Amino acid sequence: MAANIPKVVLTGGIASGKSTVAAEFAKLGVPVIDTDEISRVVVQPGRPGLRHIVEQFGREILNADGTLNRKKLRELVFNDPAKRQALEKILHPAIRVEQLRLAESVGGPYQIHVVPLLAETANRHLYDRVLLVDCPREEQLQRLLARDGVTKDLAESMLAAQATREHRLSLADDVIDNSGDPSLLPAQVTRLHERYLKELAKRP
Ligand code: ADP
Repeated sequence: MAANIPKVVLTGGIASGKSTVAAEFAKLGVPVIDTDEISRVVVQPGRPGLRHIVEQFGREILNADGTLNRKKLRELVFNDPAKRQALEKILHPAIRVEQLRLAESVGGPYQIHVVPLLAETANRHLYDRVLLVDCPREEQLQRLLARDGVTKDLAESMLAAQATREHRLSLADDVIDNSGDPSLLPAQVTRLHERYLKELAKRP
């Protein structure tokens, strides 16, 4: 990926607190690139990503105003591996291109790349370090219910579709404990930031 700027991949399960932690890094002036955000940009009207999705799934996948009906798409691929794979074949390269473009343009002593599904994909080699936002499954579930207003059943199946906490922990170089009050985050982030500046940013 981009030039020689070190990249820390910030990952974690759904609703574990990735965006919250990323915002803390941003406050310290670290460039943050969020692949979730990018995944929404590449399917905006006029983008090739959306055209390819319509070619694959038909115009029924659009809202009346021509935007992507994300809920319908999610439901369509949720229990259908072949459809999911077809969607990923469209989305992943489009996301990579945009991620690369941003990585080149934002600079920084190092960068934070928010990648929710790192544990489920084979992309570890693209990054210099893996930073995991960790919290117990039960708290994750409560946050997901509160944030997205989904049913408990759907929330459970969303968690079941992701890697386990243990698997994620096994991939992590560094861990942010987000099991407590969010006010405990800034000190953890500042400590890591100082370490990253020392250990990563000065690499030859
Ligand atoms: P992610 O980006 O990993 O999906 P978010 O950062 O959006 O997760 O956090 C999920 C939800 O939980 C958000 O509504 C957020 O405000 C809330 N949240 C994050 N950290 C905590 C915490 N330590 N305690 C309680 N709620 C939290």
